[in-house]
Amino acid sequence: MSDSVKYLLDESHLPRFWYNVVADLPAPPPPVLHPGTGQPIGPGDLEPLFPMELILQEVTQEREVPIPEPVREVYRQWRPSPLFRARRLEKALDTPAHIYYKYEGVSPAGSHKPNTAVPQAFENKRAGVRRIVTETGAGQWGSSLAMAGSLFGIAIEVFMVRVSFNQKPYRRALMEAYGARCVASPSMETNSGRAILARRDDHPGSLGIAISEAVEVAAQSGDTKYALGSVLNHVLLHQTVLGQEAMAQMEMAGEAPDIIIGCAGGGSNFAGIAFPFLGAKLRGGRDVRIIAVEPAACPSITRGRYAYDFGDTAHLTPLVKMHTLGSTFTPPGFHAGGLRYHGMAPMVSHVADLGLIEARAYHQTGCFEAGLLFAKAEGIIPAPEANHAVKAAIDEAVRCKKEGRSEVILFNLSGHGHFDMQAYIDYQAGKLVDQDYDEAELAMALAGLPAVSS
Ligand SMILES: *Cc1c(COP(=O)(O)O)cnc(C)c1O
Repeated sequence: MSDSVKYLLDESHLPRFWYNVVADLPAPPPPVLHPGTGQPIGPGDLEPLFPMELILQEVTQEREVPIPEPVREVYRQWRPSPLFRARRLEKALDTPAHIYYKYEGVSPAGSHKPNTAVPQAFENKRAGVRRIVTETGAGQWGSSLAMAGSLFGIAIEVFMVRVSFNQKPYRRALMEAYGARCVASPSMETNSGRAILARRDDHPGSLGIAISEAVEVAAQSGDTKYALGSVLNHVLLHQTVLGQEAMAQMEMAGEAPDIIIGCAGGGSNFAGIAFPFLGAKLRGGRDVRIIAVEPAACPSITRGRYAYDFGDTAHLTPLVKMHTLGSTFTPPGFHAGGLRYHGMAPMVSHVADLGLIEARAYHQTGCFEAGLLFAKAEGIIPAPEANHAVKAAIDEAVRCKKEGRSEVILFNLSGHGHFDMQAYIDYQAGKLVDQDYDEAELAMALAGLPAVSS
């Protein structure tokens, strides 16, 4: 049989809790530090930016964090998401490997991001917040939060990285369709934005700059909070519905993964699929290789430094220890906009530092080639970000063929590429080039890392 197989769970399998990997790690992650004092921050320090319930989720040590019922009600619309065995792709590659993928493109916004947008909007609403300000790269996060905001009746304002704002007008239209306000960043609306534009008026923007703008607005108004679509512990926590469902689905398929793969921008979909399996392994379960895949143009785990750094360009955030390219680093404008962040989730960085996961980096043209091979075999056009995971899965399957091994590969297909067809048009026309970051700029950004003793 060569047709691809779909594994669907019924509603009774919708997870009741989020899984917290901290409970199973051999060492706790380094503390988050106050930029002024260099001392560990407390929950109160984050209160201007986040509602207390999310702050508590950020710092909890509990293994299981219950998912509020109103959040599960919304999840139910598209969760559990399907898991497929990519038999036609296996056949196209003539590989003995078994390739499975979890598909998050079935969410209303077309990616995994609503998994955290929904609980974040819910907790803000419950805390009486009127408006949430955020940043977005390619627009997936902004559109996901815009959707969640409209569901819970809360205003959403989005600073969108300028290069994506210009490249992806349909993402912006989607945010506005949900009722959100979308501003190109750097903008003239904030001190951080104005300072950047004063130095370079055609600045393409970066996630670090857009975060500064959003944090600045949130910190200055009482009824407004900030939200982040990746990187933070509570975001990774929300995404663990992915891995929990995939575990049950792999069981349905009668197999267990030897390799788990996710693309990594801020690290949330990667952690979401991987951490539940990693936790099972750490509790004495089955061994599994876990691979994070990043763009060669913005390679934080593979080329960055594991050090304390700011989450944003204007240095308004606390200091977190993470793999970083430096908060002032501006990656070139390649097409996987959702992967253009200078840092990596502290929790992903920590497990990488502990040697519990692997990381690799790919150039974009190889990723688009893999994405089209996948699309032709499986019918789904992946988001450019997800193509990084697709390529790693294909590379591993090809290795399995060379070595004559029938390993089981599971990857997360984090979203569809329906809003990214311009990137595919450019690729097919031979217009995409493999951009490397500027080595001199990287060296400068790394030299500017804050001095922290620990
Ligand atoms: C945002 C996004 C990513 C990257 O973000 P992570 O936090 O690393 O998951 C990957 N894929 C898609 C489809 C996205 O929208």
